Amino acid sequence: MTFLAPTAEDPSQAPASALTGGKGHLLNDATVQHYRDAVRDGVDRVAAKLAATDRPFTGMTADRLAPSVRGIDLETPLGDASAALDELEDIYLRDAVYFHHPRYLAHLNCPVVIPAVVGEAVLSAVNSSLDTWDQSAGGTLIEQRLIEWTAGRIGFGESADGVFTSGGTQSNLQAMLLARDEARRLAREEHPHLDDADVRTRLRILTSQVSHFSIEKSATLLGLGPEAVIAIPVDDAKRMRTDALEKELTRCAEEGLIPMAVVATAGTTDFGSIDPLPEVAALCAREGVWMHVDAAYGCGLLISRRRAYLDGIENADSVTVDYHKSFFQPVSSSAVLVRDRTTLRHVTYHADYLNPERMAKKRIPNQVDKSLQTTRRFDALKLWMTLRIMGADQVGALFDDVVDRADDGWQLLHTDDRYEVVTRPQLSTLVFRYVPEGDVDPETVDRINLYAREALAASGEAVIASTVVDGRHYLKFTLLNPETTLGDIATVLDLIAEHAGSGLAREATPELTSAH
Ligand SMILES: *Cc1c(COP(=O)(O)O)cnc(C)c1O
Repeated sequence: MTFLAPTAEDPSQAPASALTGGKGHLLNDATVQHYRDAVRDGVDRVAAKLAATDRPFTGMTADRLAPSVRGIDLETPLGDASAALDELEDIYLRDAVYFHHPRYLAHLNCPVVIPAVVGEAVLSAVNSSLDTWDQSAGGTLIEQRLIEWTAGRIGFGESADGVFTSGGTQSNLQAMLLARDEARRLAREEHPHLDDADVRTRLRILTSQVSHFSIEKSATLLGLGPEAVIAIPVDDAKRMRTDALEKELTRCAEEGLIPMAVVATAGTTDFGSIDPLPEVAALCAREGVWMHVDAAYGCGLLISRRRAYLDGIENADSVTVDYHKSFFQPVSSSAVLVRDRTTLRHVTYHADYLNPERMAKKRIPNQVDKSLQTTRRFDALKLWMTLRIMGADQVGALFDDVVDRADDGWQLLHTDDRYEVVTRPQLSTLVFRYVPEGDVDPETVDRINLYAREALAASGEAVIASTVVDGRHYLKFTLLNPETTLGDIATVLDLIAEHAGSGLAREATPELTSAH
């Protein structure tokens, strides 16, 4: 293999970094100027991009972009950051989806706060790994303080603990693993006649119909199978019906099934609805069932003036928080917290080369004993910088702005004859559909709503999401940008109506559709 190297004849023509070969690219005492220049170059490109972006997306399709990415010869390096950044413009930066743009309204992606981006730059350059003290030192203590801080906001007591994870999916998986192993432990005590295999087939997770799909995925990964998840119906506001939960708990008892966890969602992905946490907590306490609260989306309420929406969360056994959703942190930044730290022992394994038991005896702090991961990013630093520079109140106020805007948006939609809206949001999602005038069959309404979403994405003017409610296609705004105004929402609603109108016209003129 040949790498770009200075030729003997003309070394001055080679890029500066190539003069010293691969070692010139190692970040160390000898290369700090190269580091500064290269990173600043990257920062400048992104800054220029952010300044010039006038829409969230260019409408680029995978088919059109793929040849450019495929056409790059990975065996022929460019040698310096500037050239690689030039190339990146064409294959990524130009057509990326920009979450900071106020008309990005699709998924639970937030614009990020600058303090966190500073943290990101520091953490990847220092590159601590948060598994053991001897790979992170102060990083371990910082993460532990933030877990303690979050636990305090939740209302957990002294025995709480937790760990940062890659995201809500992983946090939920870990919570379900802890719940499963606690249920197995209890079953050994209470049903000594059952063997472990038998216990496993009886384990059930109860969660609402509109909870996140990672709960089902977790059940499968944990060897329980998707049939272990019982979907509890929701009320009109898309909150878990606790009468139905109670009934299912009773049925489980009658049929010899073992409810290992009730998963309440504090901010469902589709509707932002918050399950009735105090009632769920009371049922869990009565039945002795592990209560998990998936607050991946709603965790921002912990620092908002709407903190009361989360009342009851302090009774949970475990909680998932995604700072990369409502705390305006860059991906990834998430955590799983537990009320009783001893439950974390279900993920504790000792290895002679990493975390031998004698370390625990010496009370050297480590996080790997609490985590599903080994090598792990110091994501906590982003939240740390955010709290130290902005403070929690400012971050919470940003989330409150977003929730306020969603309610304004609901008012707008609710009084707009062109649209039908599903529920008044508790958080920041709006689920709605365009309804044409006159007598149009439901399939056509589905099609023109989907058409409007695609046409809007192709124009890049706005990016929105879609979902299915009671078998029908709906459109969805997920607001997470405090810079999104009601004017932006109104503009996007007009654009949707325009596209939906053309969709309907195409339906009425088949030759238009076939010509497409
Ligand atoms: C986003 C989300 C998740 C998954 O989190 P990731 O960080 O995307 O893995 C889980 N639960 C809810 C309610 C969510 O909204």
